[in-house]
Amino acid sequence: MKVLSVASEAVPLIKTGGLADVAGALPGALAEHDVEVRTLLPGYTSVMANLGKATRVHSYASLFGGKASVLKARAAGLDVFVLDAPHLFDRPGGPYGQPTGSDWPDNWKRFAAFGRVAADVAKGADKDFQPDVVHAHDWQAAMAPAYMRFDGTPVPSVVTVHNLAFQGHFSADIFPDLGLPPEALAMDGVEYYGGVGFLKAGLQYADAITTVSPTYAREIRTPAFGMGLDGLLNVRASSLQGILNGIDTSAWNPESDKHLASTFGVRSLKRRASNRKAVEQRFALDHDNDPVLCVISRLTWQKGIDVVVSEFDTIIASGAKLAVLGAGDHALEGALLAAAARHRGRAGVLIGYDEELAHLLQGGADAILVPSRFEPCGLTQLYGLRYGCVPIVARTGGLADTVIDANDAALAAGVATGFQFAADQGDAMLEAVRRAVSLYRDTRAWEAIQKQGMRADVSWHRSAARYGELYRALLSGDGGA
Ligand code: ADP
Repeated sequence: MKVLSVASEAVPLIKTGGLADVAGALPGALAEHDVEVRTLLPGYTSVMANLGKATRVHSYASLFGGKASVLKARAAGLDVFVLDAPHLFDRPGGPYGQPTGSDWPDNWKRFAAFGRVAADVAKGADKDFQPDVVHAHDWQAAMAPAYMRFDGTPVPSVVTVHNLAFQGHFSADIFPDLGLPPEALAMDGVEYYGGVGFLKAGLQYADAITTVSPTYAREIRTPAFGMGLDGLLNVRASSLQGILNGIDTSAWNPESDKHLASTFGVRSLKRRASNRKAVEQRFALDHDNDPVLCVISRLTWQKGIDVVVSEFDTIIASGAKLAVLGAGDHALEGALLAAAARHRGRAGVLIGYDEELAHLLQGGADAILVPSRFEPCGLTQLYGLRYGCVPIVARTGGLADTVIDANDAALAAGVATGFQFAADQGDAMLEAVRRAVSLYRDTRAWEAIQKQGMRADVSWHRSAARYGELYRALLSGDGGA
């Protein structure tokens, strides 16, 4: 079976968030289920630079205002189509924003073109790769099912929501330039609160909808998490399901990780000690027997970092040390640095994005705190499980689905893998931190939790099988959910 994956980022070619990890890892995992995936990516400057030998399979004299072509290549381990459209994608800055940080004003055009081209590939633009299913990720790819519907292309489509907060909502003024028939600008079409919604269009027209955890799949059907789309998601509930993300277990393997001071495994947990020491050095923390809690995160409201700021002093007073690695909201960055300055030796904050340090933290800190207000799946708690860095997480989305709280019953049954608390509540977070600090003092109980987490299956194995089943169900004419 052939699947066209349509994604605006994929590791290792281009990454801004978890979507890239999924789009980069899923093709390899699906290959084991007899699914051949080819990924359509935008031809950003950096993607074009790493493309190597490519063949042109389709050309456009004019695609949304400029010449364009579809190239086919094998790049960085992925089979890709790349939309080479310099007027849309060859520019400095990020995939979605200018070097100044604000969105590209022509994002609607860039990602309408991207969806248009995906629909053309679905129609047979490359005669050697006729997809059986089109799988579009997030709003940037979500116009593909709309174009396919109005083209009358009989190929089933899936839209996966990695984060409902990002929707691709534009003014209705762009509609005439999208190349859709007038009837598409309707409530049961691409229209969304008086404008055009790209994600909304995908949710409307895709044959199946997935999101990245079962709990988030339920949450987004409620007003509190639905971000205006809960009504539509309820209408489409029978086509909606949650499939958990996995992680790349070779890049994230404590037994072979080159970024660690010392590799270790479930039978050699003692060797974590040198990583812990390295973490304490990097974050200027005291070397003592108190647990090190880390945070590795975008510093935003979604991630609940303001709650960490409010509770900073009480977390330190609970007996934990804090190591924070992150970047994002400038006010939060400043507040964290100021808080750390009040607690020399007990807290360290490093602002920036540092992949190597993220690995060292997972391999050396005792616990990872993930206080998100909402979290479609979350990856850092999965890395934490694999590295014996016990997750302390808000009970929401994928965090709720992947961590088993160390309550008395779970401890007695030997199934606990971490700690959960009610999201968006500082006192609940603090109570979970206190429970963790107290259990940490009981070395045997703590090691049991670490080992239980390290044995959990966080690979793509099961989830790739679920996507394979979904594609097959769609091909056989069944909605799949
Ligand atoms: P999101 O995609 O919403 O940011 P996820 O938990 O799904 O959240 O994925 C975040 C990814 O980014 C993880 O791989 C995490 O390790 C990484 N990450 C986040 N912030 C940093 C940072 N400052 N330095 C290094 N890695 C980071």
